[in-house]
Amino acid sequence: MKIARVKTTPMALAFREPYHWAGRVDHAAAVVLVEVETDDGLVGIGESVAAFPAEGTVAALQGVAPLFVGEPVFDIERLITGARHLGSFNHTPWHANFVLSGLEMALWDILGKAAGWPVHRLLGGAVRDEVDYFGFVQGDTTDELAEDARDLAAAGYGVIYLKIGRGEDADLRTTAAVREAIGGRRLRLDANCAWSVPEAIHMIGRLAQFEPEWIEQPTPLQSIAALRQVKESVSVPIAADQAVFTPADVYEICRQRAADVVVLSPHEAGGLLAFGKAAAIAEAAGVPVCLHGQGVSGITDAAQHHLGLRTANLTDGNQIMHQLLVEDLVTAPDLTPAQGKIGLFETPGLGIELDWDAVRRAAERYERDDGCHHS
Ligand SMILES: [Mg+2]
Repeated sequence: MKIARVKTTPMALAFREPYHWAGRVDHAAAVVLVEVETDDGLVGIGESVAAFPAEGTVAALQGVAPLFVGEPVFDIERLITGARHLGSFNHTPWHANFVLSGLEMALWDILGKAAGWPVHRLLGGAVRDEVDYFGFVQGDTTDELAEDARDLAAAGYGVIYLKIGRGEDADLRTTAAVREAIGGRRLRLDANCAWSVPEAIHMIGRLAQFEPEWIEQPTPLQSIAALRQVKESVSVPIAADQAVFTPADVYEICRQRAADVVVLSPHEAGGLLAFGKAAAIAEAAGVPVCLHGQGVSGITDAAQHHLGLRTANLTDGNQIMHQLLVEDLVTAPDLTPAQGKIGLFETPGLGIELDWDAVRRAAERYERDDGCHHS
């Protein structure tokens, strides 16, 4: 079973409502659909996270495709590791991971389809029957955010997640309103790198009264030292998100005791296998991992669910993103959480069925729009 062809389609996924986070508002997310076909006619589906414009990601995928064509689908570790050390990827490991993870995802989908088993079984097997997801609060004003938080709590989400880092007054006002709206449910706050170390220590000191379960990535993305300094100075647990991408980053976070939890996606880690390695390093250090979501469709959410099912040191309140889109690209599996939870997947491979009309619309939206998808 050899790889015959790699097809790439850039897409713009439109958000249902403007997506507010620290310092930015997004109206759409760029992804690249990866379809890998084998010489015996199996097709695997994957999704690479991109940015506008997505041509760089498409070119990078097509640039490495010749390394994969003609090779056995089974040799995932060898092929992905080889591609990661190619040319400019050597100097841009994070970019390489975002590019290659969609390709790797598609290879796992093929292997699962060929074997007749869901991907989580090929990755060690499920250690739980369901994965718990957080209710992701959406809106701009305090009233909008509090109302959405109330709805999410009523829908049964046990963990409610709120973006902060939008200014001290707004953060305090919104966090108070959301805390009141959700009662005693667990509340996570994500500052998305908005603060310096002293600002983070100040803000977390003020936000502690609302009893957040953790504060995510308070400080700039590349500094593990900054996270550690904050963690040593505050009483609220600290999560590392943008400070940790690769298994090597997880090792450093754990070695320096710089975070209480690691928030990670397979796109950041460099694929499903690499996510497993990263999670294992954290597990050995006694640090739990939480599934992270970039702007993605249900393709990635489904792939990540397989990881959630098989990862021993997984937290509750993981992230999915497809619900924020005007329309998702998948018709199956059902990715709608019930009481915040999604159950076992039994369909071979990733188990994804695409809505090809929605795929076409997302590809047309990418071609049509001028590339300005945030403000
Ligand atoms: Mg985050």
